[in-house]
Amino acid sequence: MSDTEETVLPDVAERFIRYAGHDTSSDGSSASSPSTARQMDFLRMLREELEDLGMEDVELDESGTLYATLPGEGAGRTVIGLLAHVDTSPEAPGEGVVPVIHRSWDGGPIRLRGDVSIDPAMTEHMNRYAGGTIITSDGNTLLGVDDKAGVALIMEACRALINDPGIRRPPMRVAFTTDEEVGRGMDGFDAERFGADMAYTVDGGPVGKVDIQTFNAWSAQFRVLGREVHPGSAKGIMVNAVRIISDMVSFLRPEEMPENSSGDEGYIYPMHISSSTSEGTLRVILRDFTSDGMERKIRYMKSLEGWINSRYPGADITLELLEQYSNPAEILKRDRRAVDFALMGTRAAGLQPEESSIRGGTDGSRLSFMGVPTVNLPTGGEFYHSRKEWVAVEGLQLSLDILMETLKIWGGEQSAP
Ligand SMILES: [Zn+2]
Repeated sequence: MSDTEETVLPDVAERFIRYAGHDTSSDGSSASSPSTARQMDFLRMLREELEDLGMEDVELDESGTLYATLPGEGAGRTVIGLLAHVDTSPEAPGEGVVPVIHRSWDGGPIRLRGDVSIDPAMTEHMNRYAGGTIITSDGNTLLGVDDKAGVALIMEACRALINDPGIRRPPMRVAFTTDEEVGRGMDGFDAERFGADMAYTVDGGPVGKVDIQTFNAWSAQFRVLGREVHPGSAKGIMVNAVRIISDMVSFLRPEEMPENSSGDEGYIYPMHISSSTSEGTLRVILRDFTSDGMERKIRYMKSLEGWINSRYPGADITLELLEQYSNPAEILKRDRRAVDFALMGTRAAGLQPEESSIRGGTDGSRLSFMGVPTVNLPTGGEFYHSRKEWVAVEGLQLSLDILMETLKIWGGEQSAP
């Protein structure tokens, strides 16, 4: 083979690359559901692809969930749900994604456009793919592994199972959701209509990890009303919301912020400010694995509201707290099968499994609380929500193996007497 001859990529990688080219960014500032029309366009395309594969009951609901069924072939009676979200994070540009394929990667930093450099030393998992094939964006956008890889993996698993009815599989329900990245992924979701007993989101990171914990998550939105007046005659009259919000941010403890937190620590993240003199908002998100820790963070926000109101008597500062999702760990402990079968599936795929905590959330956190215990499986990608996002072709293939092996175990499960 000549140096220039390109080897064909596995189907799952080709499918992922094709999906990555579609812009599906969600938009937290949009009130519509789904938040962007481009997500619906992508779902309509997937609806056709699911029908072409031979999936049953393919239904697209107008609020942005696509459902489908694959009947079982085997002893398993437990209905297994598979979920992935089609949107990509609005935190990095998602329009015009051009996936770049780095074959025979030498293990060194990968340089992309716009001074973007992916340094393998910044991750513990990239080195395992030295000599393999890495997919990145061209540096101008994110890549969208999160979670187009999850969509591609589920589609490829269904295709493989339909094409080979000899493989035992459980009765399956598939759902592709929208707006996960803006915390609204499960808003229009109908767990009863979904009808799964247990489920897997395919929305994780490095292969081998089986995510059984997520953060508890709240958002805190402060609205500040000031008083605007011509600055030349402002003395004693102007109440400047810009200054008040800056003051609030500087009051937050840096040691509790995401850039200084890791492992099982939570964080307080001031993530968005918009303000004029007369009116402004500060959006903060709160994350903690324990409910005690979350309660402390909520009390802290309330005390900040009280303190800042007393410091600026001319202003009006209000706080709106919103629960986003909760840690499903307790629910998963009650019936360990979804976890145990994923660990067994990972082992069957030739990897050492690791029960892990995800420093974020997935649609599965909320789905667990809707009565469908849900575990998160890997896609192999890393550096999500950024221009450095990457995935190895080999990581995608391993993730597919893990998913397939886990489904086979469910397919062979004897129905309870
Ligand atoms: Zn995701």
